[in-house]
Amino acid sequence: MNTPIVDGPEAVPVLRGLIAGSRRIAIFTGAGISTESGIPDFRSPGGIWTKNQPIVFQDFLASEEMRREAWRRKMAIDETFSSAKPNRGHRAVAELVRSGRAGSVITQNIDGLHQASGAPADRVIELHGNGTYAVCLDCHRLHELAPIFEDFKRSGIPPVCTVCEGIVKTATISFGQSMPEEPMRRARDETLACDLFLTLGSSLSVFPAASFPAIAKENGATLIIINREPTPLDAAADLVLHTGIGDALGEAVGVE
Ligand code: NAD
Ligand code: ZN
Repeated sequence: MNTPIVDGPEAVPVLRGLIAGSRRIAIFTGAGISTESGIPDFRSPGGIWTKNQPIVFQDFLASEEMRREAWRRKMAIDETFSSAKPNRGHRAVAELVRSGRAGSVITQNIDGLHQASGAPADRVIELHGNGTYAVCLDCHRLHELAPIFEDFKRSGIPPVCTVCEGIVKTATISFGQSMPEEPMRRARDETLACDLFLTLGSSLSVFPAASFPAIAKENGATLIIINREPTPLDAAADLVLHTGIGDALGEAVGVE
């Protein structure tokens, strides 16, 4: 296949055929798979970036005021995250993983919705961590969010570890922070083991995460991209759907 099919009525049947004919699928997801659950992405119009520039890790470490701002933002957005439910796209992904068609889902998301939709937790590879809990940057102990929010609301002081007084941060990977080694290694293994790589809802602009689709393609896998807007890899892909994920993938996989 040389010419990618971009949209059109024939795209979903082609997608279904490629999925059915594959030996092993790797799935790669970005913020776009969760917009249908009501969680805004970064780069769409009205996305998180149009409101707030991200706080880089070094600034978070260096300044208590930045940590205060980071926790203010986290509290403001947490209601949206904690009330979000998986959508049809998550359910289709979970079906592919559960049935064994896909080894794992590699995700840039921090919302926990793949696990909530029934994908086994040990087969969700989180490249950018998880925003549903916090971690001490010194002793690595995990902390629940609810008591942190309560203290922060009362005192306005950003949290420190109850064990070692280290700085506490949501368990997500910020810009400037090093990538987690084990998820990166597992994501690479999945990428190299697949013959079909499915990219869902990522602008493919955050590196190194965004390098996996290109690695898969170079390794000989068929590359499929479903994303509302064009991505830098569209021209290299075998099939591109500029459409919403839930209905297209749900129809192709046969999941409501
Ligand atoms: P991004 O915001 O850069 O890109 C999302 C892409 O998805 C956009 O190109 C958009 O056109 C597309 N999209 C949005 N809704 C869609 C839909 N319903 N169907 C098809 N396409 C749709 O996201 P990214 O590439 O994941 O990079 C953003 C970074 O921000 C990630 O690293 C992630 O860690 C973080 N983030 C996570 C969440 C989350 O956990 N839900 C939300 C915002 C940001
Ligand atoms: Zn600690």
